[in-house]
Amino acid sequence: MSSVAQLVNHLVRPEILALSAYHVPDCTGLIKLDAMENPYLVPQVLRDEIAAIVASAPVNRYPDPNPQALKEKIRHLLGLPDGMAVLLGNGSDELIQLLAMAVNKPGAVLLSVEPSFVMYKMIATFVGMRYAGVPLAADFSLDLSATLEAIRREQPVLVFLAYPNNPTGNLFARDEVRQIIEASPGLVVIDEAYYAFASDSFVNDLANYPNLLVMRTFSKLGMAGLRLGFLAGSALWLEQLEKLRLPYNVGVLPQLVAEKLLENHSVLLQQAEQIKKDRTVLYQQLSAIAGVEVYSSEANFLLLRLADANRVFNELKRRGVLVKNLNGGHPMLNDCLRVTVGTPAENERFIEALQESIGQV
Ligand code: PMP
Repeated sequence: MSSVAQLVNHLVRPEILALSAYHVPDCTGLIKLDAMENPYLVPQVLRDEIAAIVASAPVNRYPDPNPQALKEKIRHLLGLPDGMAVLLGNGSDELIQLLAMAVNKPGAVLLSVEPSFVMYKMIATFVGMRYAGVPLAADFSLDLSATLEAIRREQPVLVFLAYPNNPTGNLFARDEVRQIIEASPGLVVIDEAYYAFASDSFVNDLANYPNLLVMRTFSKLGMAGLRLGFLAGSALWLEQLEKLRLPYNVGVLPQLVAEKLLENHSVLLQQAEQIKKDRTVLYQQLSAIAGVEVYSSEANFLLLRLADANRVFNELKRRGVLVKNLNGGHPMLNDCLRVTVGTPAENERFIEALQESIGQV
Protein backbone atom coordinates (compact mmCIF):
# COMPACT_ATOMS: atom_id res chain seq x y z
CA MET A 1 0.00 0.00 0.00
CA SER A 2 1.29 3.51 -0.82
CA SER A 3 2.32 5.98 1.88
CA VAL A 4 0.55 9.33 2.09
CA ALA A 5 3.68 11.03 0.70
CA GLN A 6 3.73 8.68 -2.31
CA LEU A 7 0.05 9.27 -3.00
CA VAL A 8 0.44 13.05 -2.71
CA ASN A 9 3.39 13.02 -5.10
CA HIS A 10 1.54 10.78 -7.51
CA LEU A 11 -1.80 12.62 -7.50
CA VAL A 12 -1.05 16.32 -7.13
CA ARG A 13 -0.20 18.19 -10.34
CA PRO A 14 3.59 18.63 -10.68
CA GLU A 15 3.32 22.43 -11.05
CA ILE A 16 1.45 22.57 -7.73
CA LEU A 17 4.04 20.33 -6.03
CA ALA A 18 6.70 22.79 -7.27
CA LEU A 19 4.97 25.84 -5.75
CA SER A 20 5.66 27.19 -2.31
CA ALA A 21 2.60 28.49 -0.46
CA TYR A 22 2.18 32.28 -0.21
CA HIS A 23 4.19 33.02 2.93
CA VAL A 24 2.58 35.16 5.62
CA PRO A 25 5.10 35.83 8.41
CA ASP A 26 4.29 35.84 12.12
CA CYS A 27 3.89 39.47 13.17
CA THR A 28 3.19 39.01 16.89
CA GLY A 29 4.50 41.99 18.82
CA LEU A 30 5.90 43.73 15.72
CA ILE A 31 5.04 47.07 14.09
CA LYS A 32 3.36 45.71 11.00
CA LEU A 33 4.51 47.56 7.89
CA ASP A 34 4.62 44.59 5.51
CA ALA A 35 1.17 44.21 3.97
CA MET A 36 -0.14 47.63 2.85
CA GLU A 37 -2.84 47.73 5.49
CA ASN A 38 -4.40 51.01 6.64
CA PRO A 39 -3.02 51.50 10.19
CA TYR A 40 -6.17 53.26 11.44
CA LEU A 41 -9.46 51.94 12.77
CA VAL A 42 -12.51 54.12 12.14
CA PRO A 43 -13.71 56.46 14.96
CA GLN A 44 -15.31 54.88 18.05
CA VAL A 45 -18.86 56.13 17.26
CA LEU A 46 -18.76 54.35 13.94
CA ARG A 47 -17.32 51.22 15.53
CA ASP A 48 -20.22 51.26 18.00
CA GLU A 49 -22.69 51.46 15.12
CA ILE A 50 -20.92 48.54 13.45
CA ALA A 51 -21.06 46.58 16.71
CA ALA A 52 -24.82 47.06 16.83
CA ILE A 53 -25.20 45.96 13.21
CA VAL A 54 -23.07 42.87 13.83
CA ALA A 55 -25.01 42.06 17.02
CA SER A 56 -28.24 41.62 15.07
CA ALA A 57 -26.75 40.20 11.86
CA PRO A 58 -28.49 37.05 10.64
CA VAL A 59 -25.38 34.85 10.76
CA ASN A 60 -27.59 31.75 10.96
CA ARG A 61 -28.54 32.43 7.33
CA TYR A 62 -26.46 32.24 4.20
CA PRO A 63 -25.42 35.66 2.93
CA ASP A 64 -27.36 37.51 0.26
CA PRO A 65 -25.90 36.06 -2.95
CA ASN A 66 -26.49 39.35 -4.75
CA PRO A 67 -26.24 42.27 -2.28
CA GLN A 68 -27.84 44.99 -4.39
CA ALA A 69 -27.55 47.80 -1.84
CA LEU A 70 -23.81 47.26 -1.42
CA LYS A 71 -23.30 47.01 -5.18
CA GLU A 72 -25.33 50.19 -5.71
CA LYS A 73 -23.14 52.03 -3.21
CA ILE A 74 -20.04 50.98 -5.09
CA ARG A 75 -21.59 51.93 -8.45
CA HIS A 76 -22.49 55.29 -7.02
CA LEU A 77 -18.98 55.89 -5.59
CA LEU A 78 -17.48 55.13 -8.99
CA GLY A 79 -20.10 57.03 -10.96
CA LEU A 80 -20.59 54.04 -13.28
CA PRO A 81 -22.79 54.73 -16.31
CA ASP A 82 -25.71 52.51 -17.40
CA GLY A 83 -24.64 49.22 -18.90
CA MET A 84 -21.77 48.96 -16.43
CA ALA A 85 -21.94 46.71 -13.40
CA VAL A 86 -19.89 45.50 -10.46
CA LEU A 87 -19.01 41.96 -9.37
CA LEU A 88 -18.01 41.37 -5.76
CA GLY A 89 -15.17 39.09 -4.76
CA ASN A 90 -13.74 37.67 -1.57
CA GLY A 91 -10.84 40.07 -1.95
CA SER A 92 -9.60 40.88 -5.43
CA ASP A 93 -7.42 37.76 -5.34
CA GLU A 94 -10.59 35.76 -5.88
CA LEU A 95 -11.51 37.91 -8.87
CA ILE A 96 -8.14 37.28 -10.53
CA GLN A 97 -8.90 33.58 -10.23
CA LEU A 98 -12.45 33.96 -11.63
CA LEU A 99 -11.10 35.87 -14.61
CA ALA A 100 -8.44 33.27 -15.30
CA MET A 101 -10.94 30.42 -15.06
CA ALA A 102 -13.34 32.17 -17.42
CA VAL A 103 -10.93 32.63 -20.33
CA ASN A 104 -8.58 29.68 -19.90
CA LYS A 105 -9.06 27.80 -23.13
CA PRO A 106 -6.34 25.22 -23.96
CA GLY A 107 -3.03 27.02 -24.57
CA ALA A 108 -4.38 30.42 -23.46
CA VAL A 109 -1.87 32.95 -22.10
CA LEU A 110 -2.11 35.34 -19.15
CA LEU A 111 0.32 38.23 -19.56
CA SER A 112 1.62 40.74 -17.07
CA VAL A 113 4.71 42.80 -16.44
CA GLU A 114 7.48 42.03 -13.95
CA PRO A 115 8.08 42.79 -11.21
CA SER A 116 4.41 43.13 -10.32
CA PHE A 117 1.81 41.51 -8.09
CA VAL A 118 2.87 37.87 -7.71
CA MET A 119 -0.66 36.46 -7.65
CA TYR A 120 -1.13 37.00 -11.41
CA LYS A 121 1.52 34.38 -12.13
CA MET A 122 0.55 32.15 -9.22
CA ILE A 123 -3.10 32.05 -10.24
CA ALA A 124 -2.14 31.28 -13.84
CA THR A 125 -0.31 28.27 -12.40
CA PHE A 126 -3.24 27.31 -10.15
CA VAL A 127 -5.63 27.12 -13.08
CA GLY A 128 -3.13 25.57 -15.50
CA MET A 129 -2.79 28.60 -17.74
CA ARG A 130 0.35 29.69 -19.59
CA TYR A 131 1.95 32.81 -18.14
CA ALA A 132 4.09 35.41 -19.91
CA GLY A 133 5.89 38.07 -17.86
CA VAL A 134 7.37 41.09 -19.65
CA PRO A 135 10.20 42.83 -17.73
CA LEU A 136 9.68 46.47 -16.86
CA ALA A 137 12.36 49.02 -17.78
CA ALA A 138 15.12 49.59 -15.21
CA ASP A 139 13.21 52.55 -13.70
CA PHE A 140 10.09 50.33 -13.40
CA SER A 141 8.23 52.16 -16.17
CA LEU A 142 6.66 50.03 -18.90
CA ASP A 143 8.96 48.74 -21.61
CA LEU A 144 6.31 49.59 -24.18
CA SER A 145 7.93 48.10 -27.28
CA ALA A 146 8.77 44.83 -25.47
CA THR A 147 5.23 44.66 -24.07
CA LEU A 148 3.59 45.32 -27.44
CA GLU A 149 5.89 42.76 -29.05
CA ALA A 150 4.98 40.17 -26.37
CA ILE A 151 1.28 40.87 -26.96
CA ARG A 152 1.75 40.30 -30.69
CA ARG A 153 3.71 37.09 -30.08
CA GLU A 154 1.68 35.58 -27.23
CA GLN A 155 -1.83 36.82 -28.14
CA PRO A 156 -2.79 36.81 -24.43
CA VAL A 157 -6.45 36.29 -23.58
CA LEU A 158 -5.92 38.13 -20.31
CA VAL A 159 -3.57 41.00 -19.36
CA PHE A 160 -3.16 42.37 -15.83
CA LEU A 161 -1.62 45.77 -15.17
CA ALA A 162 -1.47 47.01 -11.59
CA TYR A 163 -2.03 50.79 -11.61
CA PRO A 164 -0.20 51.85 -9.41
CA ASN A 165 2.08 48.85 -9.55
CA ASN A 166 2.94 46.65 -6.58
CA PRO A 167 5.72 46.36 -5.36
CA THR A 168 7.24 49.32 -7.21
CA GLY A 169 4.57 51.91 -6.29
CA ASN A 170 4.63 53.86 -9.59
CA LEU A 171 1.81 54.62 -12.00
CA PHE A 172 2.64 53.60 -15.55
CA ALA A 173 2.32 56.23 -18.27
CA ARG A 174 -1.42 56.51 -19.09
CA ASP A 175 -0.82 56.75 -22.82
CA GLU A 176 1.28 53.57 -22.80
CA VAL A 177 -1.40 51.70 -20.87
CA ARG A 178 -3.91 52.92 -23.45
CA GLN A 179 -1.73 51.57 -26.25
CA ILE A 180 -1.55 48.20 -24.48
CA ILE A 181 -5.36 48.08 -24.13
CA GLU A 182 -5.75 48.92 -27.83
CA ALA A 183 -3.15 46.37 -28.96
CA SER A 184 -4.55 43.53 -26.84
CA PRO A 185 -6.70 40.91 -28.52
CA GLY A 186 -7.94 39.77 -25.09
CA LEU A 187 -9.31 41.22 -21.90
CA VAL A 188 -7.20 43.85 -20.10
CA VAL A 189 -7.73 44.27 -16.37
CA ILE A 190 -6.41 47.42 -14.74
CA ASP A 191 -5.85 46.49 -11.11
CA GLU A 192 -6.42 49.63 -9.05
CA ALA A 193 -5.85 48.10 -5.61
CA TYR A 194 -4.12 51.34 -4.52
CA TYR A 195 -6.61 53.76 -6.12
CA ALA A 196 -7.19 55.66 -2.86
CA PHE A 197 -3.58 56.86 -2.87
CA ALA A 198 -3.16 57.49 -6.59
CA SER A 199 -3.68 60.47 -8.88
CA ASP A 200 -5.25 58.63 -11.81
CA SER A 201 -7.72 55.86 -12.66
CA PHE A 202 -9.13 54.03 -15.69
CA VAL A 203 -12.72 53.90 -14.38
CA ASN A 204 -13.74 56.71 -16.75
CA ASP A 205 -12.21 54.83 -19.69
CA LEU A 206 -14.40 51.74 -19.23
CA ALA A 207 -16.96 52.95 -21.74
CA ASN A 208 -14.27 53.49 -24.40
CA TYR A 209 -12.86 49.97 -24.58
CA PRO A 210 -14.84 46.75 -24.99
CA ASN A 211 -11.90 44.71 -23.63
CA LEU A 212 -11.32 46.71 -20.43
CA LEU A 213 -12.28 45.93 -16.82
CA VAL A 214 -11.16 47.76 -13.69
CA MET A 215 -10.52 45.81 -10.50
CA ARG A 216 -10.35 47.36 -7.04
CA THR A 217 -10.14 46.21 -3.47
CA PHE A 218 -11.13 47.82 -0.19
CA SER A 219 -8.24 46.05 1.56
CA LYS A 220 -5.88 49.03 1.44
CA LEU A 221 -8.58 51.48 2.52
CA GLY A 222 -9.10 50.01 5.96
CA MET A 223 -11.01 46.79 5.26
CA ALA A 224 -8.29 44.19 4.72
CA GLY A 225 -9.92 41.97 7.33
CA LEU A 226 -13.28 41.99 5.53
CA ARG A 227 -11.96 40.59 2.25
CA LEU A 228 -13.89 42.59 -0.32
CA GLY A 229 -12.85 43.42 -3.83
CA PHE A 230 -14.78 44.18 -7.00
CA LEU A 231 -14.60 44.25 -10.75
CA ALA A 232 -16.25 47.11 -12.62
CA GLY A 233 -17.09 47.04 -16.31
CA SER A 234 -19.57 46.01 -18.93
CA ALA A 235 -22.51 43.99 -17.60
CA LEU A 236 -21.94 41.61 -20.53
CA TRP A 237 -18.52 40.60 -19.17
CA LEU A 238 -19.65 40.43 -15.57
CA GLU A 239 -22.69 38.26 -16.39
CA GLN A 240 -20.33 35.55 -17.60
CA LEU A 241 -18.00 35.84 -14.61
CA GLU A 242 -21.03 35.77 -12.31
CA LYS A 243 -21.61 32.16 -13.39
CA LEU A 244 -18.23 31.14 -11.97
CA ARG A 245 -18.58 32.99 -8.70
CA LEU A 246 -19.35 30.68 -5.80
CA PRO A 247 -22.82 31.75 -4.62
CA TYR A 248 -21.89 32.87 -1.10
CA ASN A 249 -18.39 34.22 -1.67
CA VAL A 250 -18.92 37.36 0.44
CA GLY A 251 -20.13 36.61 3.97
CA VAL A 252 -22.96 38.23 5.94
CA LEU A 253 -20.61 40.26 8.18
CA PRO A 254 -18.36 41.63 5.41
CA GLN A 255 -21.45 42.70 3.45
CA LEU A 256 -22.99 44.56 6.38
CA VAL A 257 -19.79 46.12 7.69
CA ALA A 258 -18.59 47.21 4.24
CA GLU A 259 -21.94 48.82 3.52
CA LYS A 260 -21.72 50.82 6.74
CA LEU A 261 -18.11 51.79 6.09
CA LEU A 262 -18.88 52.87 2.54
CA GLU A 263 -21.70 55.07 3.88
CA ASN A 264 -18.80 56.78 5.66
CA HIS A 265 -16.45 56.71 2.69
CA SER A 266 -15.24 60.22 3.47
CA VAL A 267 -13.81 59.00 6.80
CA LEU A 268 -11.78 56.38 4.95
CA LEU A 269 -10.68 58.88 2.32
CA GLN A 270 -9.52 61.27 5.05
CA GLN A 271 -7.36 58.47 6.43
CA ALA A 272 -5.99 57.90 2.93
CA GLU A 273 -5.17 61.63 2.69
CA GLN A 274 -3.27 61.39 5.99
CA ILE A 275 -1.39 58.36 4.68
CA LYS A 276 -0.47 60.27 1.49
CA LYS A 277 0.92 63.15 3.57
CA ASP A 278 2.89 60.75 5.72
CA ARG A 279 4.15 59.01 2.58
CA THR A 280 5.70 62.32 1.50
CA VAL A 281 7.38 62.77 4.89
CA LEU A 282 8.65 59.19 4.89
CA TYR A 283 9.94 59.57 1.33
CA GLN A 284 11.89 62.69 2.29
CA GLN A 285 13.33 61.04 5.40
CA LEU A 286 14.39 57.95 3.46
CA SER A 287 15.92 60.05 0.65
CA ALA A 288 18.11 61.77 3.23
CA ILE A 289 19.65 58.51 4.47
CA ALA A 290 22.96 57.79 2.76
CA GLY A 291 22.98 54.43 1.01
CA VAL A 292 19.18 54.22 0.66
CA GLU A 293 17.59 54.62 -2.75
CA VAL A 294 13.85 55.27 -2.47
CA TYR A 295 11.40 55.14 -5.36
CA SER A 296 8.52 57.60 -5.61
CA SER A 297 5.13 56.05 -5.01
CA GLU A 298 1.45 56.65 -5.69
CA ALA A 299 0.47 53.84 -3.32
CA ASN A 300 0.49 53.43 0.47
CA PHE A 301 3.98 51.95 0.50
CA LEU A 302 7.51 52.82 -0.56
CA LEU A 303 10.08 50.65 -2.29
CA LEU A 304 13.69 51.09 -1.21
CA ARG A 305 17.00 49.63 -2.23
CA LEU A 306 20.00 49.45 0.08
CA ALA A 307 23.09 47.37 0.67
CA ASP A 308 22.44 43.90 2.14
CA ALA A 309 18.63 44.01 2.35
CA ASN A 310 18.46 40.55 3.97
CA ARG A 311 20.55 41.67 6.88
CA VAL A 312 18.74 45.01 7.25
CA PHE A 313 15.38 43.19 7.12
CA ASN A 314 16.44 40.96 10.02
CA GLU A 315 17.90 43.87 11.97
CA LEU A 316 14.63 45.78 11.56
CA LYS A 317 12.70 42.77 12.77
CA ARG A 318 14.98 42.41 15.79
CA ARG A 319 14.09 46.02 16.56
CA GLY A 320 10.37 45.28 16.34
CA VAL A 321 9.56 46.45 12.79
CA LEU A 322 8.26 44.08 10.12
CA VAL A 323 8.63 45.17 6.48
CA LYS A 324 8.57 43.07 3.30
CA ASN A 325 11.86 41.68 2.09
CA LEU A 326 11.74 41.50 -1.72
CA ASN A 327 15.34 40.40 -2.14
CA GLY A 328 15.49 37.15 -4.11
CA GLY A 329 11.92 37.44 -5.39
CA HIS A 330 12.83 38.95 -8.76
CA PRO A 331 16.26 39.96 -10.16
CA MET A 332 15.12 43.60 -10.55
CA LEU A 333 14.29 43.70 -6.83
CA ASN A 334 17.69 42.67 -5.54
CA ASP A 335 18.37 44.33 -2.19
CA CYS A 336 14.89 45.85 -2.12
CA LEU A 337 12.57 46.24 0.85
CA ARG A 338 8.98 47.46 0.75
CA VAL A 339 7.58 49.44 3.65
CA THR A 340 3.91 50.27 4.18
CA VAL A 341 3.17 53.81 5.35
CA GLY A 342 1.99 53.46 8.96
CA THR A 343 0.98 56.00 11.58
CA PRO A 344 3.43 58.89 12.07
CA ALA A 345 4.70 57.20 15.27
CA GLU A 346 5.20 53.87 13.46
CA ASN A 347 6.99 55.59 10.59
CA GLU A 348 9.33 57.36 13.01
CA ARG A 349 10.08 54.12 14.78
CA PHE A 350 10.81 52.54 11.39
CA ILE A 351 13.20 55.34 10.41
CA GLU A 352 15.07 55.08 13.73
CA ALA A 353 15.28 51.29 13.46
CA LEU A 354 16.47 51.60 9.86
CA GLN A 355 19.23 54.05 10.78
CA GLU A 356 20.34 51.77 13.60
CA SER A 357 20.17 48.71 11.34
CA ILE A 358 22.20 50.33 8.57
CA GLY A 359 24.76 51.38 11.18
CA GLN A 360 25.06 47.70 12.09
CA VAL A 361 25.71 46.54 8.53
N1 PMP B 1 -3.82 43.61 -6.51
C1 PMP B 1 -2.70 44.16 -6.06
C2 PMP B 1 -1.88 44.98 -6.99
C3 PMP B 1 -2.30 43.97 -4.73
O1 PMP B 1 -1.16 44.52 -4.31
C4 PMP B 1 -3.12 43.19 -3.87
C5 PMP B 1 -2.78 42.94 -2.42
N2 PMP B 1 -1.49 42.90 -2.08
C6 PMP B 1 -4.27 42.63 -4.40
C7 PMP B 1 -4.59 42.87 -5.73
C8 PMP B 1 -5.15 41.71 -3.60
O2 PMP B 1 -5.89 42.36 -2.66
P1 PMP B 1 -7.10 41.68 -1.90
O3 PMP B 1 -7.14 40.23 -2.26
O4 PMP B 1 -6.80 41.92 -0.47
O5 PMP B 1 -8.33 42.38 -2.36
